[in-house]
Amino acid sequence: MANINRERLAASFIELCEIDSPSREEGQISKRLQEIFAELGAEEIYEDNSTDATGAECGNLIVRFAGSGEKKGEEGFFLSCHMDTVEPGKGVKVVRNGDIFTSAGDTILGGDDKSGIAAIIEMFFMLKESGADHPPIEIILTVCEELGLVGATHLETEKIETPFGYALDSSGIDQVVIGAPAASKFTITVTGKSAHAGLAPEKGVSALQIAAKALGRLAVGRLDEESTRNFGVVEGGVAFNIVPETVVIHGELRSHSEEKFAAYTEEIHQAFADAIKEWQQEEGYEGSFEPFYEFEELGCYPALRLDATSPVIRRIAQAADSVAKKLDYIVAGGGSDANILFGKGLPTAIVATGMNKVHTTEEELDYNDLVSLVELLYSLATL
Ligand SMILES: [Zn+2]
Repeated sequence: MANINRERLAASFIELCEIDSPSREEGQISKRLQEIFAELGAEEIYEDNSTDATGAECGNLIVRFAGSGEKKGEEGFFLSCHMDTVEPGKGVKVVRNGDIFTSAGDTILGGDDKSGIAAIIEMFFMLKESGADHPPIEIILTVCEELGLVGATHLETEKIETPFGYALDSSGIDQVVIGAPAASKFTITVTGKSAHAGLAPEKGVSALQIAAKALGRLAVGRLDEESTRNFGVVEGGVAFNIVPETVVIHGELRSHSEEKFAAYTEEIHQAFADAIKEWQQEEGYEGSFEPFYEFEELGCYPALRLDATSPVIRRIAQAADSVAKKLDYIVAGGGSDANILFGKGLPTAIVATGMNKVHTTEEELDYNDLVSLVELLYSLATL
């Protein structure tokens, strides 16, 4: 195996973390990554046309490296990471304490997902130095992942030539996520009619009563072994003596089964439609106004499910074997760009990068984990 240049890897990781890139402000890091991959010999660097849809400063990047030597004609694979970070992500300063990297404490570190990107860069340095044969490899770098997989949703996947790949974007190390739930975030708005609650209550339709009736019929929490549902925020009404005209409910649904996901979504529609119908049939309501509800999906992605015998899992299993690593294959509770890519016909396993305590100012990365990820990637490339 070629040698990992540990100091170079640490330096790239720190450099990337210290280029601020909160969601939609990925312009600067995109520019720097294009420079780095051009120097490393990328055959093509393509920035897609997703900015109108995402509102980001730049598009997603697809970077293509041609195969070399005897593996030139093979199908290859892609590696994907997201360029954006959560807040607080401005003015990141990396602190290195022995092998542990953290931020200075007032921001996130950004190892989510710059640990993955730094590992990819080091892998390409090693391929260049060793001259080892490798198949074509593409890198997908998305924007706005943290806003709900927005960049991946608008990615021009038809530009991707390799048949499967790996999203380097998960906590822990030596873990591969092979299943993640379908999920949606949604807003339900119930509209009734306002009226003075004391002087003319019969002229009003309480959106709150309708919403309460509907919500009362919907189970929340763990719906079955594969599914969860939550209504997290309820807003509405304007004063104690006014019949509430509008109630807005924010919720989410997750399921590892696409069928159950569809059924639980339908159940929500049914509950609100029924609550409205019953209100209209209730004695005493003589108004001509018809209450109604609107269901707006703010983000939705399909379930990810990969078979142990699929080429994407077989390749990484072999890569791990050849460097004597033991990988755990797990099912996760959250989604990532991999769900979107999988939904668009590109099987994608999620690989742990060593990032930890992500989305907090205590985020950290153990350098040895990052080194271990590079070993795995190099093996994946040179198999
Ligand atoms: Zn991430």
